[in-house]
Amino acid sequence: MAEVISGRDLSAALKADMKVQVKELFQKYGRAPHLAVIIIGDNPGSISYVKGKEKSCNEIGIKNTTFHLNARVSQKTVMNLIKSLNEDETVDGILVQLPLPKSYDEEAIINAIDPTKDVDGFHPSNIAKLWTKKPCMLPCTPKGIIEMLKSKNIEIKGKRVCVMGRSNIVGLPMMKLFIDEDATVTMVHSKTTRQWEFTRDADILIVAIGKPKVVNARYIKDGAVVIDVGVNRDPETGKLCGDVDFDDCEPYASYITKVPGGVGPMTICALMQNTIESFLTHVGDKMEDRK
Ligand code: NAP
Repeated sequence: MAEVISGRDLSAALKADMKVQVKELFQKYGRAPHLAVIIIGDNPGSISYVKGKEKSCNEIGIKNTTFHLNARVSQKTVMNLIKSLNEDETVDGILVQLPLPKSYDEEAIINAIDPTKDVDGFHPSNIAKLWTKKPCMLPCTPKGIIEMLKSKNIEIKGKRVCVMGRSNIVGLPMMKLFIDEDATVTMVHSKTTRQWEFTRDADILIVAIGKPKVVNARYIKDGAVVIDVGVNRDPETGKLCGDVDFDDCEPYASYITKVPGGVGPMTICALMQNTIESFLTHVGDKMEDRK
């Protein structure tokens, strides 16, 4: 029977610490870190994610400004908004909620964000720094997952890790963070045949494929740590569920996460941490000097 790693509990503890830190920063610098969020259109998932981010900012004392744009605004209007936020010295973090409606050039919009304010870590300059091991803004979901494992003192060094999914925002940066932690990493994607040959070899299995409950007990080895990134609707119940069949895997895993209440809250928590880091960079406290 596995121990459940609760992202909800861990993020609550980390947010309580950040609340104290933000209060001290306010006293020292006369302002709180400031996150600007741009959301375009009415995608219900995006609206709900943005509300979650606003709630966390409010809990911690991070200033939050949300720009909810109608999906008819032009690309130029969005680019101009980003330019003005880049130039605004009171804005530390800029986040564009993805996915954008298809009529927008997502890449151009992300590339327009000042890399020092790119709290999602999606700007090419931050990606290049990540892959060349330079201090940078780490993508939130992989960063949150590493923090979850460390919170339970789960050994990563020398372990075999399998990452299912190779997206730019989860799978690929996740792989790099594990390599940097001295793990040996394999990656499985939709074209991988006999996937279980890789997944069953893993001490730590990260599942980020966006397919409800695909990963069952046959995919995991006894005692594996299983981290479920997926956020899906269960086709049978309509409830939120992960990519992992929790009930099937839980008896064999050593540690496991749930959906909801697992990786999701840690992603938001990492976003808050990145906003504070960005603030510290802007007030002159260099990233290299920090732990
Ligand atoms: P994505 O961009 O759609 O990428 C999915 C990846 O999974 C692709 O690399 C795809 O392979 C691979 N894949 C799909 N079906 C597979 C299968 N049956 N076996 C093995 N690999 C398979 O998705 P994403 O943005 O990484 O997100 C993945 C999931 O995590 C989604 O459910 C998303 O909602 C969730 N998510 C959660 C959080 C959070 O904070 N909790 C954050 C981000 C994402 P190919 O490359 O071959 O197509």
